[in-house]
Amino acid sequence: MMKFESQAIVQPSGTKAVLTYPIWEGFDVKTLIQELSEYLKNGRAFADAIAQKESHTFASLVLAGEEFGEEMRRLWGTAMHLSNVLQTDELREECKKGTVLISEYYSDMGQHEGMYRAYVAFKNADEYQTLGSAEKKIIDDTIDDFKRSGVALSPEKKARLKTINTTHAQLTEDFENHLVDAQEVWAKHVVDASVLVGIPNDAIAQMRTKAEEKKLPGYILTLQQPVVFAVLEHADNRQLREEVFVMYNTRASELGPKPELDNGPLIKEILASVDEKAKLLGFANYAELSLDTKMAPSVSEVLAFLERLAAKSKDGASREYNALVQFAAEKLGIAELMPWDIGYVSEKLRLAEYNVSDEELRSYFPSTKVFDGVFGLIGKIYGMRVEEDVNISVWRNGVKFYRVYDALNELRGGFYADLYAREKKRGGAWMDDCIVRRKIGEVVQLPVAYLNCNFIEPKEESDGYLTHAEVETVFHEFGHVLHHVLGTTEYSSVGMMHVEWDAVECPSQVMENWCWDKDMLKSMSSNRETGEVIPDELCDRLIAAKYFQTAMATARQLEFAIVDLELYGKYDPANPREPNEVLSEIRKRIRVTPIYSNDRFLTGFSHIFSGGYGAGYYSYKWAEVLAADVFETYMETGNIFNPGIGARFLTEVLEVGSARPIMESFKAFRGREPSEDALLRQTGLM
Ligand SMILES: [Zn+2]
Repeated sequence: MMKFESQAIVQPSGTKAVLTYPIWEGFDVKTLIQELSEYLKNGRAFADAIAQKESHTFASLVLAGEEFGEEMRRLWGTAMHLSNVLQTDELREECKKGTVLISEYYSDMGQHEGMYRAYVAFKNADEYQTLGSAEKKIIDDTIDDFKRSGVALSPEKKARLKTINTTHAQLTEDFENHLVDAQEVWAKHVVDASVLVGIPNDAIAQMRTKAEEKKLPGYILTLQQPVVFAVLEHADNRQLREEVFVMYNTRASELGPKPELDNGPLIKEILASVDEKAKLLGFANYAELSLDTKMAPSVSEVLAFLERLAAKSKDGASREYNALVQFAAEKLGIAELMPWDIGYVSEKLRLAEYNVSDEELRSYFPSTKVFDGVFGLIGKIYGMRVEEDVNISVWRNGVKFYRVYDALNELRGGFYADLYAREKKRGGAWMDDCIVRRKIGEVVQLPVAYLNCNFIEPKEESDGYLTHAEVETVFHEFGHVLHHVLGTTEYSSVGMMHVEWDAVECPSQVMENWCWDKDMLKSMSSNRETGEVIPDELCDRLIAAKYFQTAMATARQLEFAIVDLELYGKYDPANPREPNEVLSEIRKRIRVTPIYSNDRFLTGFSHIFSGGYGAGYYSYKWAEVLAADVFETYMETGNIFNPGIGARFLTEVLEVGSARPIMESFKAFRGREPSEDALLRQTGLM
């Protein structure tokens, strides 16, 4: 039994709340499947009971359903979280079994005709007319979900859809597990330190630790992201860069050291399965199905938007690349730029032009100060206060828990922060929900979030030092955390986790803007050796370098977004195209940098094959438009810390969650629909 503890809270306003969180020691992988099965059995019984009833109320239908859904989520969400951050072989195996059960369950529930009829009947009954807009939206969205789940299909098609869903869930899980394993299957043992010249000390220390763990002299390089980036951006040894680049860009492919981890066949199966699913449900392709629940109006409009940006960034990207080629030839003696030179030469050029290096910046940003900086910021713009709570248990030493209070001293929720990379932890940075906000009778259950990153773990110091890009990651993930924790909706069905996918990156991208402000930079810096705040002139150089290679970066993001939509939106089951060829064609059109001929980028593209971004990668750019427009609202007032604008964003966007369509929330905040101009202006493309 996964245990949870709850603290009863009486808010200053007199309202009652409860802060609930898992007791991590109570997690028992051995009973996971048994408990999950029990929940699912109860869930089915609940649905059957609903179907038997003559009439329904909002409480008996929605509230009871949320209650049950949360119980299950508490068990399964916690298990999946542990599987992401602290995986063991046993946990992985049990989660695989659980994924199948969950997928079957949701297929059945989505197709449960009795439940569907109950919702439709409720919608036609008197009580529905008395509901508020959020409550009505829950009913309407649920009815749409039933339709998208195939409730109206014939029994044969329903069965087929269920099989597809289960297969798809297994495929995506295998895809992700292959990637986790691929981080470890290649390792390079280096005894001679001169091979590593140029690589920053923190990364070298991590390689050293890895060797010590294996009782070996020297250093061990793996395919963990911080190691890969450290080598590709800094290693003077070109051969080493090439080796790491090749291993990284062929990981989990047929060209990697363990062909059984090849994600290539999985990609084809994933594309085929979701295409079949979309067609069963009456959509032309999976991209159309994906966009059905998103803010963007249609696939063609999204593609037009991406192509418009691609055209606008092309010249700039070519100019940036030519500058790189020239610099490499003149200053570094590299006559022909290879793919494994791009990161390295870019870093050198950035240093030459702006005299900023990630590693110089890293010495100024201890993670605790960065967190304090973010806390100060959200104090200024939203009136929030954050406090660490050391009494709440965590899953691993070094993970922290924080409580978030608002200007009226009401506790709004909490979040965990797990900052450092380690073996058996999923790569990248992400936010997830732990506890959802929900009103249970008169008591508000407060939301709790997970903030996860993969920074280099400090060896002796208590603080890890972050590059500015990593600082930006913290700000970004914080935006997601705030979106979850500051929500004020009373139902989990209209929380932040249900906001349209292509808009959900807006609050996180808005947050990134502040980590480029000079006052902010100073407030969160303290030099590792001297304790000094970051000097003005270094801030100036950093800010000046903000738009270094932005057109190239934009082109890269557009390449990803377009290949995603092409793969999912133009899949032909009779004659499926080779995914790598689709990517190649798009690259030829958009990319200005050299392409590695054996590149297997797609086998590592977990976002779109296992991370829920399938036919949705465009969301980053889509949400950037919103985010740039939001930040411009602050800029127009001449004060980027304007608490009035902050309050409006808080009440019209963050607190609202998905209680209304995001377009309505945006218009309530901005007074008009979003415009692309702010993004073009801010990235120098206009
Ligand atoms: Zn994000």
